[in-house]
Amino acid sequence: MSSLCAICRRAHRDQGDAHRTACDRCEHRIRGWLREIPRQLPLLEASLVLDGGPAQGRSAGRAHAPLPVRADVLNMLGPAAPGPVRDHRGDQSGTLPILALVYAWAEQIAAERARDIPPFRPRADYTRYIAAHLPYACTRPWITDLHTELGDVVHAARAITRTEPRRRPQDAPCPGCSAFALIAEDWQQFIECTTCGLLLSHDEYAAHHQAVMPPLYRTALRLVVHHATQTQTTPKDEPA
Ligand SMILES: [Zn+2]
Ligand SMILES: [Zn+2]
Repeated sequence: MSSLCAICRRAHRDQGDAHRTACDRCEHRIRGWLREIPRQLPLLEASLVLDGGPAQGRSAGRAHAPLPVRADVLNMLGPAAPGPVRDHRGDQSGTLPILALVYAWAEQIAAERARDIPPFRPRADYTRYIAAHLPYACTRPWITDLHTELGDVVHAARAITRTEPRRRPQDAPCPGCSAFALIAEDWQQFIECTTCGLLLSHDEYAAHHQAVMPPLYRTALRLVVHHATQTQTTPKDEPA
């Protein structure tokens, strides 16, 4: 059965009898963020001390001595409140402490699935816990909130650490829609078509590239040769 992804609104197919709220593409995007978060944390710590990190977010011309650390980064790094933080979102200004947010989602998943989860520890990282339960999360209505909240903290962290992932256009056309729109992005496991949404693993893309590119190169070469021949044989305009 096919249905609309609650996140990207594209049509996708349910797998077996499990109804999926979110599509494969959105699941892979979230999985990429969960891999990226532990890598962003040390970079955020390095950006914590003023003058030790990127200049974004500082205000110029203060009349008083600035804080020795960046308040926005301090906020993201914690101290993380124990227990669910999502219920208190309204009270929190700026970006939520990352690890507390991750833990709150891990705790929600554990509660719904009646699984045990170790008690919260301020430095513990539960991204792998969420990643392990992501297929389940993608069948739940709250997957849109998980997507939004993880996306928000990842984008906020990237803005501070200046680590926007590189997006590299691939030269082979999409095997699904033939558009030249395949993009590989840092942290992401799959190459994605930005036109039709197809996902290809790097091995699948390599095999596809090997199959389609030689004939494409030959066609392109024939066109170039044909064009050059035409240019050489076209008689120049003679004066009347
Ligand atoms: Zn989607
Ligand atoms: Zn495509």
